[in-house]
Amino acid sequence: MSLKISRRTFIKGSIAAAGTVVAGTGISGPDFAAAGPLSDEKQEPLSTLLDIRKCIGCEECVHACREVNAAKYPEPRKPFPKMYPKTVPVQDWSEKRDVTDRLTPYNWIFIQHASVTHNGEKMELTIPRRCMHCDNPPCVKLCPWGAAKQEKNGLSRIDADLCLGGSKCKNVCPWSIPERQTGVGLYLDLLPALAGNGVMYKCDRCYNRLEKDELPACIEACPENVQSIGPRSEILEQAHSLAKEINGYVYGEHENGGTNTIYVSPVPFDQLNAAIEKGKGKPHLAYTKNMMADGTNLSRAMLIAPLAGLAAAFGKFYLKSKEDK
Ligand code: SF4
Ligand code: SF4
Ligand code: SF4
Repeated sequence: MSLKISRRTFIKGSIAAAGTVVAGTGISGPDFAAAGPLSDEKQEPLSTLLDIRKCIGCEECVHACREVNAAKYPEPRKPFPKMYPKTVPVQDWSEKRDVTDRLTPYNWIFIQHASVTHNGEKMELTIPRRCMHCDNPPCVKLCPWGAAKQEKNGLSRIDADLCLGGSKCKNVCPWSIPERQTGVGLYLDLLPALAGNGVMYKCDRCYNRLEKDELPACIEACPENVQSIGPRSEILEQAHSLAKEINGYVYGEHENGGTNTIYVSPVPFDQLNAAIEKGKGKPHLAYTKNMMADGTNLSRAMLIAPLAGLAAAFGKFYLKSKEDK
């Protein structure tokens, strides 16, 4: 099946009849670069589709992400301040920047491996993992400092200038995606011993590249066109069409109330989830309920929103006055 959308409406998120040809191989491609600047108008979320069958585990996406985003990585100040209470853990990845087999503050995408037998066929599958960019992200809604934000195109990111590293975002993320680096960020100036403990880092969907009409680095670098990017409705249509064609399965459409990272696999996701290595920096692939449908989280988010706005405004004011000195 092939779908058609225009370059312009592709960015704006509405569906059009003419334009870039979108085949089963993906909505993204060279045409993306000509799409025009991101609009300020409310957009349909920009989603990605990952066709797990195509991934060969070459890690080109991982290295492209590290190269393109290196300037955003933390450069911690040492020695680290002593924290009170002493149970607050120091998390230092600055001497382990080369680690690529899990998520770290210096590695925002990694490849998971699964050896499975499905319908009598033995398969070795490799799965690129990073932030799911949830539709209604608890990391954003429950960040008390207004440091995590969701852009109009649906991507979520953490402002390293405002984050205090308290890791609320990680605690409320169903996949525990954000990773902390100690010894960097605003907490060093404000309350070095008593608040936060660094800055949280995760995939920001290459927001600065998108602003320049460039593809996220991991999508551009992939030799197998594993990932496609486009308006969520288009991506979902493509995902279901592909799943039907291969008798496969979809993940990310309903998890945590819906995400903008949609996987299609020839193997059921509970089987993949059982086969992958999970744990610190290695997210699961299980079904997860909508964290923001929980009454406590919902009322917390309503309470936090105005305070987080004030905290973010204070943080920005503080940084500006520091710059002006
Ligand atoms: S670059 Fe593409 S094929 Fe290689 S590991 Fe990443 S997603 Fe898979
Ligand atoms: S996957 Fe986690 S870090 Fe990413 S948007 Fe969802 S809640 Fe936030
Ligand atoms: S979208 Fe950008 S930041 Fe996110 S994993 Fe891909 S290259 Fe890294």
